[in-house]
Amino acid sequence: MADLTRLPRGRHFFANPGPTNIPDSIQHALSHASVDFMDGGFLTLYEGCVAGLKRVLKTTQEVFLYTGSGHAAWEACLVNLLSAGDRVLIIESGHFSQSWARMAIDLGIEVQVVAADWRRGAEIAAVQAALAADTGHAIKAVCAVHNETATGAVLPLAQIRAALDATGHPALFLADTISSLGSMDFRMDEWGVDAAVGGSQKGLMLPVGMSFTGVSAKAMAAHAGSKLPKHYFSWTNMLGRRHRSFVGTVPVTLFYGLAEALRLIEEEGLEQVFARHSRLAEGVRRCVRHWSGNKGPALFCESRDRLSDSVTAVLMPEGHNAEAVRRTALQRFNVSIGGGLGPLSGKVFRIGHLGDLNEPMILGTLGAVEMALRIEGVPHAPGGVGAAMAYLAEA
Ligand SMILES: *Cc1c(COP(=O)(O)O)cnc(C)c1O
Repeated sequence: MADLTRLPRGRHFFANPGPTNIPDSIQHALSHASVDFMDGGFLTLYEGCVAGLKRVLKTTQEVFLYTGSGHAAWEACLVNLLSAGDRVLIIESGHFSQSWARMAIDLGIEVQVVAADWRRGAEIAAVQAALAADTGHAIKAVCAVHNETATGAVLPLAQIRAALDATGHPALFLADTISSLGSMDFRMDEWGVDAAVGGSQKGLMLPVGMSFTGVSAKAMAAHAGSKLPKHYFSWTNMLGRRHRSFVGTVPVTLFYGLAEALRLIEEEGLEQVFARHSRLAEGVRRCVRHWSGNKGPALFCESRDRLSDSVTAVLMPEGHNAEAVRRTALQRFNVSIGGGLGPLSGKVFRIGHLGDLNEPMILGTLGAVEMALRIEGVPHAPGGVGAAMAYLAEA
């Protein structure tokens, strides 16, 4: 029987899909002393950060920021753009699309869902059909989660934009890019996204606590007519402030971290960052496909063209609990991976591969998970880590 009482030693390997690893240089930047947020030096740093965020979002339009996690930016989008009784079309992807839908319902918004099998993802033809059927243009916004962190599947935003254009539907296009931004290509302006929701603690490698929205000119026009109650989140209130964001104190410390995060991303090059995520993700998938050999754990996402480069959800074989694997990886090997969310609880574990990561960190995580599978008696084909190594050595 394995001894589970050993104290964890060595580095804590962190492979959750948010929050993510914080590089040492960002950690140091975050230890900055408090400063007056109206101080000239800080304003320069702040404005540089907003400009940098726009480059990462690939937008030249507005960005508003909130002291709050991603949920705050979700809520900000809805209350700034909609009125009670308005309808939104939510493209089902998994736990996060459902949570956004529940939030909309709580805010008095009517929700129409494009239903989807979570393992395959929504058909874009179904999205287009829903838009085409809405001849009265009751749908005011289409909401899509770019990268569904619960299932490890991507929605093709450019194709959704094309569906809006093909039907001539005037709805706003809202995209949650919380777990894709800074890890996978996202093009707010080119894809005609009207509101893009981002957060600090995923690809941007910062602690949780700040979120933001890129907002198009079309969305600003819709904002002028929106009647849902708002104050802290009000974009109009924000435009009246020196920082054009933040009703209240600006979280100054996070901006020292953000400036360093943006420096790291731009030093590596945004496209190089995406390429690194894509390599590491494929390494993880090679490993999981190998494990699946003996009726072992398998990739949850069954659409090969929708696989996420920032998180991989792994489906356990029938009769085996993902939580046991997770617990053993943590207690025996000091490796943290994500669990299944909502209805996938116990059925899925998730390996986050976004943010500050390299090959040995990924291989260390995969090695610990493979050992946990062995310890927990979960069927699998041993040697998945070797399959990942063989790929990563050549990639
Ligand atoms: C993490 C995440 C959220 C929620 O963000 P919080 O910061 O936890 O509020 C929303 N959507 C997606 C896709 C996420 O990955």
